[in-house]
Amino acid sequence: MFVPSPWRADFPAIAALQRQHQTYLDNAATAQKPQALLDALIHYYSHGAANVHRAQHLPGALATQAFEASREKVAQWLNAPSLLQIVFTQGTTSAINLLAYGLEHEFAPGDAIVISALEHHANLLPWQQLALRKQLDLVVLPLDRHGLIDVEAARSLIGPRTRLLAVSQFSNVIGAWQPLDQLLPMARAVGALTVVDGAQGVVHGRHDVTAMDCDFYTFSSHKLYGPDGLGVLYGKADALARLQPWQYGGEMVQMADYESASFRPAPLGFEAGTPAVGSVIGLAATLEYLGGLDASAVEAHEAALHSQLLRGLNDREGIKLLGEPQVALASFVVEGVHNADLASLLTEQGIAVRAGHHCAMPLLKRFGLGGAIRVSLGLYNDSDDLVRFFLALDKALEILR
Ligand code: PMP
Repeated sequence: MFVPSPWRADFPAIAALQRQHQTYLDNAATAQKPQALLDALIHYYSHGAANVHRAQHLPGALATQAFEASREKVAQWLNAPSLLQIVFTQGTTSAINLLAYGLEHEFAPGDAIVISALEHHANLLPWQQLALRKQLDLVVLPLDRHGLIDVEAARSLIGPRTRLLAVSQFSNVIGAWQPLDQLLPMARAVGALTVVDGAQGVVHGRHDVTAMDCDFYTFSSHKLYGPDGLGVLYGKADALARLQPWQYGGEMVQMADYESASFRPAPLGFEAGTPAVGSVIGLAATLEYLGGLDASAVEAHEAALHSQLLRGLNDREGIKLLGEPQVALASFVVEGVHNADLASLLTEQGIAVRAGHHCAMPLLKRFGLGGAIRVSLGLYNDSDDLVRFFLALDKALEILR
C-alpha cells in the first residue's frame, strides 16, 4: 500500500532531487529544507542584512529584533524557562567543544567524565581531549544487548568521582532512544553536571528540557530541517553561570582594556563574533513551520515508514541490523558483502544513504565492524522511496553475492 507524505511538496528540494533521479535517505546526516525557511531567508537577505546587537540604525535594530525573537522561539520550542538560557553556536559539535573548554576549570586530576559507548565523535572527542589535558578518567558506559546504554552498569560506573555525564538522547547509528530518565538522576545524585546530545533526538517529537532536568542540551539546526552553520545550546541558569567563555572577541565583552577585560553573562558571553544572523532567523521560520504540523500525524507517518524499512531488511537473507532501531533510521551490514561495495552500487542507482563508521568509530569497532549502511528517514519520505531503495538493494546484492 502506498504511504504518501502529506508534507513532501513543502520541501522543494525533494522534487529537484527526484528530477536528478536521487532518492534521499540520508536525513540523519542532514535534512532538506521547507519552503517556509527559504522564504524567510529570501525575505531577510532581500530586505537588508545587518549585524546584530551593535548597530544603532534601523536595519540593525530590525535584525536584532528578529534574531532575539528567534531565540525566544527556540526557548519555547524546548520549553526552556528563559531566552537567556539559549546560546547560539555553530552546531552541536561547537556547542560540546564550548562546554569542554568552558567547564575545564571545574575539573581536577582524578575526576571522572562519563560518556557512553555509542557517542558520536562530537560527544566523545571533546571530553576525551579534556580528560587528556587534565588527567581525568573518561568512563565509557557499555551497551546492553538491545543497543541501549546499560543502566545497571551505569549504577556502578557513575560514582563520587563523576563530575559530568554526557550522553546522546537518540543514537545516530542504532536509532534508539536512550534511557535518560534513569541515567540523568544517577548523575544528579552524585552532584555531576549532565549534558544531553540532542542532535538526533530533537528531530523526532518535541522535547522539554525543563522536564528532562538536564544541565545542558544541544542540537544542530540543519538536522531539524533548518539552516546550516547553526546550533543551539540550552543550559540551566546555574549551569551556564559556571561556564567560562571559550571564544573571545566582539559582542561577548562587557569592558575591554589592553591588559584585561570582563565578559557578558549568557547568552551573549558565549556568542563571540558575528553570529549566523540569517540562519538564526531561518531557524525560527522552520520551527514555526514544524509547529504547524499535526504532531501525531508526523509520528504515525514516521512509524509507518520505519516499520516498512525494518520489514524489508528483516525479510532479506543475511542482513544484520546494528542494535534494535526504534524509529527514524536503521544501520545494517550484509553477510559476505563489503559495505563500501554495496554503498557504491546503491549510489550508482541514485540511492542516497550513508556508508561508513557514522562518526562513531569505537562503536562500530565494538560491533566488530569497519562500517555499516545507514538508511535514515525524513518527514517528506514516502513508501515509494523505500520501494526504490529495496529494488536497488536487491539488484546490488544480486551482483555482489
Ligand atoms: N551528535 C550526534 C548524535 C549526531 O548525529 C551528530 C551529527 N551527525 C552530531 C552530534 C554532530 O552534529 P554537527 O555535525 O551538526 O555538529
